[in-house]
Amino acid sequence: MAAPRYIRVDERDNVAVVVSPGGLPAGARFACGLVLTEAVPEAHKVALVDLAAGAAVVRYGVTIGYARRAIVRGSWVHEGLMDAPAVPALESCPLATATPDPLPPLEGFNFEGYRNPDGSVGTKNVLAISTTVQCVAATVQHAVRRIKAEILPRYANVDDVVALTHPYGCGVAIESPAAEVPIRTLRNLVLNPNFGGEVLLVSLGCEKLQPAQLVPAGALPVLADQPSISVLQDAQQGFGEMVASIMALAEKRLQRLNQRQRVTCPASDLVVGLQCGGSDALSGVTANPAVGIAADLLVRAGATVMFSEVTEVRDAAHLLTARAASPEVARDFLREMAWYDDYLRTGGVDRSANPTPGNKKGGLANVVEKAMGSIAKSGSTALRAVTGPGERVTQKGLVFAATPASDFICGTLQLAASMNMHVFTTGRGTPYGLAAVPVIKVSTNSGLAARWPDLIDVDAGRIAAGAATVEEVGWEIFRLILEVASGRHKTWSDRWGLHNELALFNPGPVT
Ligand code: CA
Repeated sequence: MAAPRYIRVDERDNVAVVVSPGGLPAGARFACGLVLTEAVPEAHKVALVDLAAGAAVVRYGVTIGYARRAIVRGSWVHEGLMDAPAVPALESCPLATATPDPLPPLEGFNFEGYRNPDGSVGTKNVLAISTTVQCVAATVQHAVRRIKAEILPRYANVDDVVALTHPYGCGVAIESPAAEVPIRTLRNLVLNPNFGGEVLLVSLGCEKLQPAQLVPAGALPVLADQPSISVLQDAQQGFGEMVASIMALAEKRLQRLNQRQRVTCPASDLVVGLQCGGSDALSGVTANPAVGIAADLLVRAGATVMFSEVTEVRDAAHLLTARAASPEVARDFLREMAWYDDYLRTGGVDRSANPTPGNKKGGLANVVEKAMGSIAKSGSTALRAVTGPGERVTQKGLVFAATPASDFICGTLQLAASMNMHVFTTGRGTPYGLAAVPVIKVSTNSGLAARWPDLIDVDAGRIAAGAATVEEVGWEIFRLILEVASGRHKTWSDRWGLHNELALFNPGPVT
């Protein structure tokens, strides 16, 4: 058996994470002389010192909880032994007090992408068929199946045809202030760089959300003689006519998309969305810090890097406002946190609704520990901008795009924010994928990568085993992003066609 190993993230930490595969039994002795007083599962915490009742439990150099009773050195420090710290008060968060200096620029890194008329760059060439309302979803999905079988094979340069279907558009309080979130999400989804400005929109006719509200005039660079909207209630000859109409409009768009060619683009044209799902205690030790290195490389190369998931960063708000590029950016961040606090309060919950039972089984005691592990993805650069859910991101550098932590809602909102590459870290494992952009999945532990070699693209668990450094895996992720964005390497989710449904964030009432 290999020598017992743990990882201590920060020298101030009084707990460390056991990284030996399968965990360790009582009596296991580490190289430093520490002996376990009881069995500790893999990815769970061990006390490095004796902790008195009420003592701060420190990881990442910050307090992640308080000991409920005395904990002796070598014990398993689990959820049941810790009280979570109070949530940081938003009004006392520091504003841009610790803005990091810019890192040296990184030049000479390119990828092959599809340059769009608006200057954005696609990493895939996809025909999207958007919808105003749920009523048309099944018809559009039927049409898409036929387009893929009968028409798409003639347009070899187009990767896919995607139906942007959703349960919104009617039977909802469309005048509610909160309706702005799903409506702008649908509007901005259409503008995702991978759709090349050639989106087709299908409407029912009588729905509340009308095409003109969803796609304002001039938003799509379509030819005046080629209507981009199909209204099903205009059909005089039944379902067959509806489907034929959608297919005919789709073919015109396929003809134009088929002419797109990849050209060499600087890495600064990347808009990379970061997310995690099914996190464990190793997320913040291996995968997320490695993604953080990749995030710093991307920012140095001039790209946009988005991180999200409000409930996972909420308990690190004071650290992120300090890191903001200006007090205005910090206030924008606090505005999004306050909006989400209100949203959760209205729903009768608070941030303790996160983490999940799977997170806890994976070793995460509470949302504070999860937040610290989550923000490791954001690297070390200044926070340059903050956007609300479903808003388009236009700034370069590190951006916080506020979204829920739900994998599918976050992914959908990041697509609306104009993401053209997605990096997803997972500890417990998920076969997550999106049709619109490539998803690179990074496992936090080698056990998952070994069990799912045909789903996981990068094994960051090698860091825990001492087989690779955080910097090495960070560079590997950065280079893989360029390969995948160029279409030279397919991610596992694209090889299998694992394309999850979009999920809108609708904080407003349903009528
Ligand atoms: Ca997530």
